[in-house]
Amino acid sequence: MPVKHWTFAGLILTYRCDACCASCYLAGGPGRQEAEMTVESALAIWEQLIAASPHGCRVHLSGGEPFLDWPRLIEVCRRARSAGLGPLQKVETNANWATDDAVAADRLRQLDRAGMEKLGISADPYHQQHVPIDRPRRLARLGEELLGAARVQVRWRDWLAEGCDVWRLDEPARRELLARYARLGRDRLNGRAGEALADDLLAAGAPGRTPEDLAWRHCREALLRSRHVHIDGAGLITPGACAGIVLGQVGPGRTVADTWRQMNDDHVHRPVVGALSRAGPAGLLGLATGAGYRPAGRYASRCHLCWSIRRHLARRGLHLGELGPPQLYNPQDATCPPAIAYNR
Ligand code: SF4
Repeated sequence: MPVKHWTFAGLILTYRCDACCASCYLAGGPGRQEAEMTVESALAIWEQLIAASPHGCRVHLSGGEPFLDWPRLIEVCRRARSAGLGPLQKVETNANWATDDAVAADRLRQLDRAGMEKLGISADPYHQQHVPIDRPRRLARLGEELLGAARVQVRWRDWLAEGCDVWRLDEPARRELLARYARLGRDRLNGRAGEALADDLLAAGAPGRTPEDLAWRHCREALLRSRHVHIDGAGLITPGACAGIVLGQVGPGRTVADTWRQMNDDHVHRPVVGALSRAGPAGLLGLATGAGYRPAGRYASRCHLCWSIRRHLARRGLHLGELGPPQLYNPQDATCPPAIAYNR
């Protein structure tokens, strides 16, 4: 089956983040210092993404928290526009930096002039364990005033309207809120979410499913047909929806087009991507049980099962060419305190 061209791409400028959300499938956090993407590298990859697809590529900028390095972020936007690479589809943020109306408005105007089409703001109970809710509210209000409502995307608006600073809740209320929210099923259970949210869900009484229940569904669409990828500062390319599965790596002498061609040619034979494309996570069970994996009785979803198997393989040093970045699978780097008192 041919792999669809990658026509939507997120550049992960950094994995560093001033929050450390339980829902973060990339396991961003203050401890993630690796794979910072330089301005030059971002522009080169952006250009390669457009050249690699007959349909071009719409790029968004993400992290981690890309506003932690504002000079880099605005330089990437400005130089991409000058080089004719745009349009820049979106810049994503947790809004923790939006502590002041004047500073936030000034940055939004600069991004607007530099060609940003949309601003993406994260707001949910996991973010509001770390980021005071008045900050995403401020940024959304200013964004709507300066850019127009259609150019401001909030995940999720219902929470932004009714939410609160979750760290102020007492423990039973906090647990009840997080369990209720996990049951909405808005978050894909990969990376840190595959640890924390999946456990919350099962503990909150979600029925869970056995590996046999989950065996019948392949993951061809998510891996080969979705057209959406992320690329990090080390050049690792991962599917937009499946954090931790490496499709290829760009770098000196190896472009996005080279990587896509190789993926198109040999994905069937790759131990991880090939097995998942054919049979979903159950297709990995043979590999994993041979390496000592003992399935649990229940999983919250097939992505939870997939994450659990991949984590087992990666921690045993197996299939690391297809499982990365290493820090995603490393428990030291993937674990955070329940709430961080930054900038409060
Ligand atoms: S089960 Fe794995 S490969 Fe399939 S969609 Fe979920 S994370 Fe992606």
